[in-house]
Amino acid sequence: MNLSRDLIKKIQRRVLKWYSQHGRALPWRGTKDPYKIWLCEIILQQTRIEQGTSYYLRFLEQFPTLEHLAQADETQILKAWEGLGYYTRARNLMKTAKIVYHQYQGHFPQTYEELLKLPGIGPYTASAIGSICFNLPILTIDGNVRRVLSRLFELHNKPDSPPLHQIIQQIAKQVISKKYPGNFNQGLMDIGSIICIPIHPKCRECPLIKCCSAYQHGTQSLFPEKKNTRPLPVLHWAVFVILNKDEILITREENQNFLKNLYALPTVEMDEDNHKINNHPENIFIQLTKQINLPNKVKWDFLLTTRRKYSHRTIHFHVYITRLKFKKLSTKHYLWVPLKDVPYYPFSRAFTDIIKQIPS
Ligand code: SF4
Repeated sequence: MNLSRDLIKKIQRRVLKWYSQHGRALPWRGTKDPYKIWLCEIILQQTRIEQGTSYYLRFLEQFPTLEHLAQADETQILKAWEGLGYYTRARNLMKTAKIVYHQYQGHFPQTYEELLKLPGIGPYTASAIGSICFNLPILTIDGNVRRVLSRLFELHNKPDSPPLHQIIQQIAKQVISKKYPGNFNQGLMDIGSIICIPIHPKCRECPLIKCCSAYQHGTQSLFPEKKNTRPLPVLHWAVFVILNKDEILITREENQNFLKNLYALPTVEMDEDNHKINNHPENIFIQLTKQINLPNKVKWDFLLTTRRKYSHRTIHFHVYITRLKFKKLSTKHYLWVPLKDVPYYPFSRAFTDIIKQIPS
Protein backbone atom coordinates (compact mmCIF):
# COMPACT_ATOMS: atom_id res chain seq x y z
CA MET A 1 0.00 0.00 0.00
CA ASN A 2 1.50 3.34 -1.08
CA LEU A 3 0.61 6.42 0.93
CA SER A 4 0.76 9.93 -0.50
CA ARG A 5 3.55 12.18 0.70
CA ASP A 6 0.95 14.61 1.88
CA LEU A 7 -0.83 12.07 4.06
CA ILE A 8 2.45 10.84 5.55
CA LYS A 9 3.49 14.38 6.49
CA LYS A 10 0.06 15.05 7.99
CA ILE A 11 0.17 11.91 10.16
CA GLN A 12 3.71 12.61 11.34
CA ARG A 13 2.99 16.24 12.19
CA ARG A 14 -0.19 15.42 14.09
CA VAL A 15 1.28 12.55 16.11
CA LEU A 16 4.42 14.52 17.06
CA LYS A 17 2.46 17.63 18.05
CA TRP A 18 -0.03 15.59 20.08
CA TYR A 19 2.83 13.71 21.81
CA SER A 20 4.60 16.92 22.81
CA GLN A 21 1.40 18.18 24.43
CA HIS A 22 -0.37 15.07 25.69
CA GLY A 23 2.12 12.19 25.82
CA ARG A 24 1.92 10.22 29.06
CA ALA A 25 4.37 11.23 31.79
CA LEU A 26 5.93 7.84 32.48
CA PRO A 27 9.12 7.35 34.53
CA TRP A 28 11.14 6.21 31.49
CA ARG A 29 10.03 9.07 29.26
CA GLY A 30 12.66 11.69 28.53
CA THR A 31 15.59 9.30 28.86
CA LYS A 32 17.62 7.85 26.02
CA ASP A 33 19.53 5.50 28.29
CA PRO A 34 19.28 2.11 26.54
CA TYR A 35 19.55 0.24 29.85
CA LYS A 36 16.42 1.96 31.19
CA ILE A 37 14.47 1.71 27.92
CA TRP A 38 15.37 -1.97 27.53
CA LEU A 39 14.42 -2.69 31.15
CA CYS A 40 11.02 -1.03 30.87
CA GLU A 41 10.27 -2.62 27.49
CA ILE A 42 11.03 -6.11 28.79
CA ILE A 43 8.95 -5.54 31.93
CA LEU A 44 6.05 -4.14 29.92
CA GLN A 45 5.87 -7.09 27.53
CA GLN A 46 2.62 -8.83 28.59
CA THR A 47 2.27 -6.55 31.65
CA ARG A 48 -0.05 -3.59 32.19
CA ILE A 49 1.63 -0.19 32.61
CA GLU A 50 0.24 0.33 36.14
CA GLN A 51 1.75 -2.92 37.39
CA GLY A 52 4.92 -2.68 35.29
CA THR A 53 5.79 0.82 36.51
CA SER A 54 6.27 -0.25 40.13
CA TYR A 55 8.45 -3.20 39.04
CA TYR A 56 10.50 -0.91 36.79
CA LEU A 57 11.17 1.51 39.65
CA ARG A 58 12.03 -1.29 42.07
CA PHE A 59 14.36 -2.94 39.54
CA LEU A 60 16.19 0.34 38.99
CA GLU A 61 16.56 0.80 42.71
CA GLN A 62 17.94 -2.71 43.17
CA PHE A 63 19.96 -2.81 39.92
CA PRO A 64 20.68 0.84 39.06
CA THR A 65 23.05 0.02 36.19
CA LEU A 66 23.62 -2.71 33.66
CA GLU A 67 26.68 -3.73 35.64
CA HIS A 68 24.59 -4.34 38.78
CA LEU A 69 22.18 -6.52 36.82
CA ALA A 70 24.94 -8.42 35.01
CA GLN A 71 26.56 -9.29 38.32
CA ALA A 72 23.37 -10.29 40.16
CA ASP A 73 22.60 -13.99 40.62
CA GLU A 74 19.55 -15.70 39.20
CA THR A 75 17.71 -16.04 42.51
CA GLN A 76 17.99 -12.28 43.15
CA ILE A 77 16.60 -11.48 39.71
CA LEU A 78 13.79 -14.04 39.91
CA LYS A 79 12.87 -12.74 43.36
CA ALA A 80 12.69 -9.15 42.05
CA TRP A 81 10.58 -10.44 39.16
CA GLU A 82 8.23 -12.45 41.40
CA GLY A 83 4.56 -11.84 40.59
CA LEU A 84 5.16 -10.52 37.05
CA GLY A 85 4.79 -13.92 35.39
CA TYR A 86 6.34 -15.06 32.09
CA TYR A 87 9.62 -15.81 33.85
CA THR A 88 11.45 -16.45 30.59
CA ARG A 89 11.62 -12.66 30.37
CA ALA A 90 13.57 -12.50 33.65
CA ARG A 91 15.99 -15.19 32.50
CA ASN A 92 16.54 -13.43 29.19
CA LEU A 93 17.05 -10.17 31.06
CA MET A 94 19.87 -11.80 32.95
CA LYS A 95 21.43 -13.35 29.82
CA THR A 96 21.30 -10.09 27.86
CA ALA A 97 22.74 -8.09 30.75
CA LYS A 98 25.73 -10.45 30.87
CA ILE A 99 26.22 -10.42 27.08
CA VAL A 100 26.10 -6.63 26.83
CA TYR A 101 28.35 -6.22 29.85
CA HIS A 102 30.98 -8.77 28.80
CA GLN A 103 30.85 -8.79 24.99
CA TYR A 104 29.87 -5.19 24.25
CA GLN A 105 31.83 -3.58 27.11
CA GLY A 106 28.59 -2.49 28.79
CA HIS A 107 27.19 -0.62 25.75
CA PHE A 108 24.08 -1.81 23.95
CA PRO A 109 24.64 -2.39 20.22
CA GLN A 110 23.21 0.42 18.10
CA THR A 111 21.82 -1.39 15.08
CA TYR A 112 18.43 -3.06 14.78
CA GLU A 113 19.99 -6.32 13.54
CA GLU A 114 22.43 -6.57 16.44
CA LEU A 115 19.79 -5.71 19.02
CA LEU A 116 17.66 -8.53 17.62
CA LYS A 117 20.40 -11.04 18.39
CA LEU A 118 20.14 -10.43 22.14
CA PRO A 119 18.00 -12.89 24.16
CA GLY A 120 14.46 -11.66 24.77
CA ILE A 121 14.71 -8.81 22.25
CA GLY A 122 12.29 -9.22 19.36
CA PRO A 123 11.32 -6.75 16.61
CA TYR A 124 9.11 -4.72 18.96
CA THR A 125 11.74 -4.20 21.66
CA ALA A 126 14.58 -3.70 19.15
CA SER A 127 12.62 -0.98 17.37
CA ALA A 128 11.70 0.71 20.67
CA ILE A 129 15.33 0.76 21.89
CA GLY A 130 16.65 1.62 18.41
CA SER A 131 14.26 4.49 17.76
CA ILE A 132 14.26 6.03 21.25
CA CYS A 133 17.95 5.66 22.07
CA PHE A 134 19.68 5.64 18.69
CA ASN A 135 17.22 7.48 16.42
CA LEU A 136 16.68 4.46 14.13
CA PRO A 137 13.66 5.12 11.87
CA ILE A 138 11.77 1.89 12.61
CA LEU A 139 8.13 1.81 13.66
CA THR A 140 7.42 0.00 16.93
CA ILE A 141 4.43 -2.20 16.24
CA ASP A 142 2.49 -3.51 19.21
CA GLY A 143 -1.21 -4.38 19.48
CA ASN A 144 -2.11 -0.74 20.09
CA VAL A 145 -0.26 0.54 17.04
CA ARG A 146 -1.69 -2.27 14.92
CA ARG A 147 -5.19 -1.21 15.98
CA VAL A 148 -4.57 2.45 15.10
CA LEU A 149 -3.17 1.55 11.67
CA SER A 150 -5.94 -0.96 10.98
CA ARG A 151 -8.54 1.74 11.63
CA LEU A 152 -6.68 4.60 9.96
CA PHE A 153 -6.48 2.66 6.68
CA GLU A 154 -9.37 0.16 7.18
CA LEU A 155 -7.04 -2.78 6.73
CA HIS A 156 -8.73 -6.02 5.75
CA ASN A 157 -7.39 -9.53 5.79
CA LYS A 158 -8.31 -10.27 2.16
CA PRO A 159 -7.44 -13.62 0.60
CA ASP A 160 -6.40 -11.91 -2.65
CA SER A 161 -3.99 -9.37 -1.10
CA PRO A 162 -0.74 -9.78 0.89
CA PRO A 163 -1.15 -10.89 4.51
CA LEU A 164 -2.08 -8.12 6.94
CA HIS A 165 1.27 -8.09 8.75
CA GLN A 166 3.01 -7.43 5.42
CA ILE A 167 0.71 -4.50 4.65
CA ILE A 168 1.31 -3.11 8.14
CA GLN A 169 5.07 -3.37 7.57
CA GLN A 170 4.73 -1.49 4.26
CA ILE A 171 2.76 1.28 6.00
CA ALA A 172 5.18 1.30 8.96
CA LYS A 173 8.17 2.03 6.70
CA GLN A 174 6.37 4.99 5.19
CA VAL A 175 4.78 6.68 8.21
CA ILE A 176 7.69 6.56 10.68
CA SER A 177 9.21 10.00 11.25
CA LYS A 178 12.82 9.93 10.07
CA LYS A 179 13.71 12.92 12.21
CA TYR A 180 12.01 12.01 15.50
CA PRO A 181 11.33 8.26 15.36
CA GLY A 182 11.40 7.79 19.14
CA ASN A 183 8.81 10.48 19.83
CA PHE A 184 6.68 9.36 16.89
CA ASN A 185 6.65 5.76 18.15
CA GLN A 186 5.82 6.78 21.69
CA GLY A 187 3.10 9.13 20.46
CA LEU A 188 1.44 6.48 18.29
CA MET A 189 1.61 3.94 21.12
CA ASP A 190 0.00 6.43 23.51
CA ILE A 191 -2.76 7.23 21.02
CA GLY A 192 -3.41 3.50 20.68
CA SER A 193 -3.51 2.86 24.38
CA ILE A 194 -5.52 5.86 25.61
CA ILE A 195 -7.54 7.17 22.63
CA CYS A 196 -7.91 4.54 19.92
CA ILE A 197 -8.98 1.97 22.50
CA PRO A 198 -10.52 -1.36 21.48
CA ILE A 199 -14.13 -0.49 22.42
CA HIS A 200 -15.61 3.00 21.99
CA PRO A 201 -12.48 4.78 20.68
CA LYS A 202 -12.38 8.46 21.66
CA CYS A 203 -12.24 9.74 18.10
CA ARG A 204 -13.14 13.32 19.01
CA GLU A 205 -9.93 13.56 21.06
CA CYS A 206 -7.81 11.90 18.38
CA PRO A 207 -5.23 13.96 16.48
CA LEU A 208 -5.66 11.60 13.51
CA ILE A 209 -9.41 12.04 13.14
CA LYS A 210 -9.08 13.92 9.85
CA CYS A 211 -6.91 11.17 8.32
CA CYS A 212 -8.93 8.20 9.57
CA SER A 213 -10.89 6.08 7.11
CA ALA A 214 -12.69 4.09 9.82
CA TYR A 215 -13.91 7.31 11.45
CA GLN A 216 -15.11 8.70 8.13
CA HIS A 217 -17.08 5.52 7.40
CA GLY A 218 -18.19 4.80 10.97
CA THR A 219 -16.47 1.40 10.84
CA GLN A 220 -14.18 1.71 13.89
CA SER A 221 -15.72 -1.35 15.59
CA LEU A 222 -14.91 -3.56 12.58
CA PHE A 223 -11.14 -3.02 12.92
CA PRO A 224 -8.81 -4.66 13.61
CA GLU A 225 -10.44 -7.77 12.15
CA LYS A 226 -10.70 -10.58 14.66
CA LYS A 227 -8.43 -13.60 14.39
CA ASN A 228 -9.83 -17.08 14.98
CA THR A 229 -8.29 -18.08 18.27
CA ARG A 230 -7.87 -21.69 19.28
CA PRO A 231 -8.93 -22.59 22.83
CA LEU A 232 -6.01 -23.07 25.22
CA PRO A 233 -5.32 -26.48 26.76
CA VAL A 234 -6.62 -26.89 30.31
CA LEU A 235 -4.43 -28.77 32.82
CA HIS A 236 -5.10 -29.91 36.37
CA TRP A 237 -2.30 -30.02 38.94
CA ALA A 238 -2.48 -31.40 42.46
CA VAL A 239 -0.41 -29.20 44.80
CA PHE A 240 0.67 -30.37 48.24
CA VAL A 241 1.17 -28.19 51.27
CA ILE A 242 3.30 -30.33 53.61
CA LEU A 243 3.91 -28.75 56.99
CA ASN A 244 5.98 -29.76 59.95
CA LYS A 245 5.49 -27.43 62.89
CA ASP A 246 6.50 -24.07 61.44
CA GLU A 247 8.26 -25.42 58.35
CA ILE A 248 7.02 -26.15 54.84
CA LEU A 249 8.39 -28.51 52.20
CA ILE A 250 9.32 -26.77 48.95
CA THR A 251 11.18 -27.73 45.80
CA ARG A 252 12.97 -26.05 42.93
CA GLU A 253 11.11 -26.39 39.65
CA GLU A 254 13.25 -28.11 37.04
CA ASN A 255 10.81 -29.73 34.66
CA GLN A 256 8.30 -27.05 33.70
CA ASN A 257 10.23 -24.75 31.42
CA PHE A 258 8.08 -21.72 32.04
CA LEU A 259 8.63 -21.98 35.82
CA LYS A 260 12.23 -23.21 35.65
CA ASN A 261 14.42 -22.47 38.67
CA LEU A 262 11.58 -20.87 40.58
CA TYR A 263 10.61 -22.50 43.84
CA ALA A 264 7.36 -24.46 44.02
CA LEU A 265 5.27 -26.66 46.26
CA PRO A 266 5.35 -30.40 45.53
CA THR A 267 3.09 -30.94 42.54
CA VAL A 268 1.69 -33.88 40.58
CA GLU A 269 -0.04 -33.49 37.23
CA MET A 270 -3.56 -34.96 37.30
CA ASP A 271 -5.27 -36.65 34.41
CA GLU A 272 -8.80 -35.97 33.25
CA ASP A 273 -10.42 -38.42 35.71
CA ASN A 274 -8.39 -37.62 38.82
CA HIS A 275 -9.56 -34.11 39.36
CA LYS A 276 -13.17 -35.18 39.22
CA ILE A 277 -12.84 -37.64 42.11
CA ASN A 278 -14.50 -35.63 44.85
CA ASN A 279 -11.44 -33.66 45.79
CA HIS A 280 -9.76 -36.80 47.11
CA PRO A 281 -7.84 -38.57 44.35
CA GLU A 282 -6.16 -41.51 46.16
CA ASN A 283 -3.88 -42.45 43.30
CA ILE A 284 -2.45 -38.94 43.18
CA PHE A 285 -1.58 -39.21 46.87
CA ILE A 286 0.07 -42.56 46.19
CA GLN A 287 2.08 -41.03 43.36
CA LEU A 288 3.28 -38.21 45.58
CA THR A 289 3.98 -40.63 48.43
CA LYS A 290 6.37 -42.52 46.13
CA GLN A 291 7.88 -39.34 44.73
CA ILE A 292 9.00 -38.02 48.10
CA ASN A 293 8.92 -41.22 50.10
CA LEU A 294 6.15 -40.28 52.51
CA PRO A 295 4.69 -42.90 54.85
CA ASN A 296 1.47 -44.39 53.45
CA LYS A 297 -0.80 -43.26 56.22
CA VAL A 298 -0.53 -39.53 55.71
CA LYS A 299 -3.91 -37.84 56.12
CA TRP A 300 -4.69 -35.24 53.45
CA ASP A 301 -7.26 -32.47 53.69
CA PHE A 302 -8.53 -30.63 50.65
CA LEU A 303 -7.65 -26.92 50.97
CA LEU A 304 -8.80 -25.11 47.84
CA THR A 305 -8.92 -25.02 44.06
CA THR A 306 -7.62 -22.05 42.14
CA ARG A 307 -7.11 -21.35 38.46
CA ARG A 308 -4.55 -19.35 36.49
CA LYS A 309 -4.47 -18.48 32.82
CA TYR A 310 -1.08 -18.40 31.14
CA SER A 311 -0.39 -17.41 27.55
CA HIS A 312 -0.23 -21.02 26.41
CA ARG A 313 -2.48 -22.90 28.85
CA THR A 314 -4.88 -22.68 31.76
CA ILE A 315 -3.99 -24.56 34.93
CA HIS A 316 -6.36 -25.56 37.73
CA PHE A 317 -4.47 -26.04 41.00
CA HIS A 318 -6.15 -28.47 43.42
CA VAL A 319 -4.45 -27.94 46.76
CA TYR A 320 -4.15 -30.50 49.59
CA ILE A 321 -2.63 -30.01 53.00
CA THR A 322 -1.12 -32.23 55.65
CA ARG A 323 0.71 -31.63 58.91
CA LEU A 324 3.45 -34.17 59.55
CA LYS A 325 4.91 -34.96 62.94
CA PHE A 326 8.29 -35.95 61.49
CA LYS A 327 10.70 -34.68 58.85
CA LYS A 328 12.34 -37.87 57.66
CA LEU A 329 11.71 -37.84 53.93
CA SER A 330 13.79 -38.65 50.93
CA THR A 331 14.09 -34.99 50.13
CA LYS A 332 16.84 -34.87 47.54
CA HIS A 333 14.99 -32.32 45.45
CA TYR A 334 13.03 -30.84 48.32
CA LEU A 335 13.88 -28.67 51.28
CA TRP A 336 12.25 -27.71 54.54
CA VAL A 337 11.97 -23.98 54.95
CA PRO A 338 10.60 -22.00 57.91
CA LEU A 339 7.29 -20.43 56.85
CA LYS A 340 8.60 -17.03 57.88
CA ASP A 341 11.48 -17.38 55.35
CA VAL A 342 9.27 -18.27 52.39
CA PRO A 343 9.17 -14.62 51.18
CA TYR A 344 12.92 -14.83 50.47
CA TYR A 345 12.40 -17.52 47.83
CA PRO A 346 11.14 -16.68 44.32
CA PHE A 347 7.83 -18.44 43.57
CA SER A 348 5.43 -18.01 40.68
CA ARG A 349 2.30 -15.99 41.47
CA ALA A 350 0.14 -19.14 41.64
CA PHE A 351 2.22 -20.64 44.46
CA THR A 352 2.59 -17.33 46.31
CA ASP A 353 -1.21 -17.01 46.35
CA ILE A 354 -1.64 -20.59 47.57
CA ILE A 355 0.93 -20.13 50.36
CA LYS A 356 -0.90 -17.00 51.53
CA GLN A 357 -4.00 -19.11 52.06
CA ILE A 358 -2.40 -21.70 54.31
CA PRO A 359 -4.33 -21.62 57.61
CA SER A 360 -2.16 -20.92 60.66
S1 SF4 B 1 -10.13 8.67 14.63
FE1 SF4 B 1 -10.90 7.14 16.04
S2 SF4 B 1 -10.66 5.20 15.00
FE2 SF4 B 1 -9.44 6.68 13.91
S3 SF4 B 1 -7.40 6.46 14.78
FE3 SF4 B 1 -8.42 8.08 15.91
S4 SF4 B 1 -9.39 7.08 17.66
FE4 SF4 B 1 -8.82 5.49 16.20
